[in-house]
Amino acid sequence: MTQRINSYYAATLTQETDFPILQGTHIVDIAIIGGGFTGVATAVELAEKGLKVALLDTHKIGWGASGRNGGQVTGSLSGDEAMRKQMRRTLGNEVDDFIWHLRWRGHQIIKQRVEKYGIACDLKHGHLHAAMKPSHLTELRASLEEAQARGMGDEVTLLDQAGVRQHLDSPLYLGALKNTRNLHLHPLNLCLGEARAAQSLGALLFEHSEVLEIVHGPRPAVVTAQGRIEAKQVLLAGDVYHRLEPGKLKGKIFPAMGGIVTTAPLGELARQLNPQDLAVYDCRFVLDYYRMTADGRLLFGGGANYSGKDSRDIAAELRPCIERTFPRLKGVDIEFEWSCAMGIVVNRIPQLGKLSDNVWYCQGYSGHGIATSHIMGEIMANAMTGTLRQFDTFAGCQHIKVPMGDVLGNPLLAVGMWYYGMLEKLR
Ligand SMILES: Cc1cc2nc3c(=O)[nH]c(=O)nc-3n(C[C@H](O)[C@H](O)[C@H](O)COP(=O)(O)OP(=O)(O)OC[C@H]3O[C@@H](n4cnc5c(N)ncnc54)[C@H](O)[C@@H]3O)c2cc1C
Repeated sequence: MTQRINSYYAATLTQETDFPILQGTHIVDIAIIGGGFTGVATAVELAEKGLKVALLDTHKIGWGASGRNGGQVTGSLSGDEAMRKQMRRTLGNEVDDFIWHLRWRGHQIIKQRVEKYGIACDLKHGHLHAAMKPSHLTELRASLEEAQARGMGDEVTLLDQAGVRQHLDSPLYLGALKNTRNLHLHPLNLCLGEARAAQSLGALLFEHSEVLEIVHGPRPAVVTAQGRIEAKQVLLAGDVYHRLEPGKLKGKIFPAMGGIVTTAPLGELARQLNPQDLAVYDCRFVLDYYRMTADGRLLFGGGANYSGKDSRDIAAELRPCIERTFPRLKGVDIEFEWSCAMGIVVNRIPQLGKLSDNVWYCQGYSGHGIATSHIMGEIMANAMTGTLRQFDTFAGCQHIKVPMGDVLGNPLLAVGMWYYGMLEKLR
């Protein structure tokens, strides 16, 4: 049976899970496939509404990207611009308000849930979105203006080069947008805390229980090697890790591998490098992102491998980026390194839809999934209980389905990323 991969997060879990393997037949209202944030957040929403939920994962709850990511809760929905264009057709002039309010909804849900269920996940406020060239600064100025116009002016500040140096002991940046609404946290502890919250509300959780088939019909079911769950409705929330329903879903989402490392604890140096304990990400299309962990390590992620194949030596790839960012960390010990696949969608709009009358799917946040998965959890739970407006808005968006996606998808993605890399150099 798969255990967790060795990561800083797995090593600092507050409490490991031990949910059973599904055996026999169970009857519930909603069966959810996938125990990442999408599945777990939807399970909490539905259980809070009084529905009987069962949630299954092939491995452990939080085994996928939800338990291995950078832990930065940003206000980006990844595909904001594409959404604006497509959703204008259905929402008209309301589209800007729709997207703006959605951007911050995930933050509210996470904060309320952490407080309500007492989830210990090192939740903190504060990000720097850092500029590495003048064009980045122009973009940050536009973000500042939008935030000010929306009444969020007291939570965002544009720092100049000297201002950034007061926040980060790094020579890299020309300026940064400081945002105190954004959050950072230990994602695996959040995901497992939410799973336990769902369980406390009566949800059934199963680990090491891969769903092999979805049976469609008036009373759908999900089937594993040793059991079966019959439900009124099913949600497929396996993101880029599932191979179910290839007829409708193959060629719509592709894996990009991201690598993360953590250094040894830095002691007092952690405070000197980043005195306000902010999470940082830069403005490039393929970016570096980092923050300090609760025990004072630098957690640093960067790049992404769009070939769909894992990197052979993550620490060797990220060490030069760390040393360029913080010259004082030259030669620092790296104690954990791991990688994970994230689900990339060509136009970067989350994919929500139906596979049949009572079987739904929700996937593809293109590397911006912590807040987004919680927003989608709320939207899916509302849709499955009859409130469809937000779901319909997303489901109405058009997506590219790459023919022979399992063969051509990643090469095409790699070409696309090369193109964006070139644009990045020119901007
Ligand atoms: C390296 C990396 C860094 C990232 N950093 C950030 C960040 O800092 N901020 C941010 O917002 N986002 C970040 N993301 C993105 C974010 O982690 C994801 O978008 C989000 O976690 C996806 O959640 P999910 O529940 O949809 O999928 P996952 O968390 O991947 O969960 C899917 C689950 O489904 C299960 N599953 C699949 N098939 C089946 C089946 N047939 N039967 C049963 N179970 C099945 C899998 O085992 C898995 O546990 C990052 C991603 C990566 C990879």
